[in-house]
Amino acid sequence: MKYILEIEKLTKKFGDHEVLKGIDLQVKKGEVVVIIGPSGSGKSTFLRCINRLEEPTSGRILLDGVEITGDNVDINKVRQRIGMVFQQFNLFPHLNAIENVMLAPVKIKKEDKKEVEKRAKRLLEKVGLKDFMHKYPAQLSGGQQQRVAIARALAMNPEIMLFDEVTSALDPELVKEVLDVMKQLATDGMTMIVVTHEMGFAREVGDRVIFMDGGVIVEEGSPEEVFTNPKNPRTKRFLSFIL
Ligand code: ADP
Ligand code: MG
Repeated sequence: MKYILEIEKLTKKFGDHEVLKGIDLQVKKGEVVVIIGPSGSGKSTFLRCINRLEEPTSGRILLDGVEITGDNVDINKVRQRIGMVFQQFNLFPHLNAIENVMLAPVKIKKEDKKEVEKRAKRLLEKVGLKDFMHKYPAQLSGGQQQRVAIARALAMNPEIMLFDEVTSALDPELVKEVLDVMKQLATDGMTMIVVTHEMGFAREVGDRVIFMDGGVIVEEGSPEEVFTNPKNPRTKRFLSFIL
């Protein structure tokens, strides 16, 4: 079996504080892995290590069979291949939607502007923002801004997308429009790792659910297994609070 992403014995310390205590995870191409777990369990740190926003303390990460941890790796290349979307949309306020989407492919990848513009238009249409391409972030709702952020990440043609609680800062009525975009992306075959508290999404879209606590993977399985029949008492306790 070939994996697009392989993580072996990953640890991360901040000073003496060991936040990730040896994580092993293998992800198949096209798989949607949902990560759940209490606040402070290391979910964000884990995602940030995967695209090298944080330097892992030890362990290995392989992308399509090639190690991306270690000193001889071009971190910028890695980040182009692994897109990430955050809770805070972090759009550039002085650029409109399409300019936000076009910026990195033009400036970082030095791609042809006309080609990028075509792609940016297509992506903004795909996330339902055909009529909002020339709006500035301040003129857009949170849900629209987050969809621009997703289009912006996709504009780099990533092989994997990481989502870190991307609906947590949104008003409830705006959550669905963002989850629908992510669902479509999953249907289109994107490999995704999604940290979320949206259990409906996890059940419907997730191929696998991982419960993290205290910097380790406590339990994993199909959504059905984890939600309906959790084995670990910590998983049971967590789910009893949120379901
Ligand atoms: P989660 O996303 O599951 O809520 P985080 O990965 O954000 O968890 O944080 C896990 C732990 O790591 C927390 O105790 C947090 O305080 C700590 N931590 C995260 N980032 C840093 C940092 N840059 N420096 C020091 N400690 C950090
Ligand atoms: Mg977090």
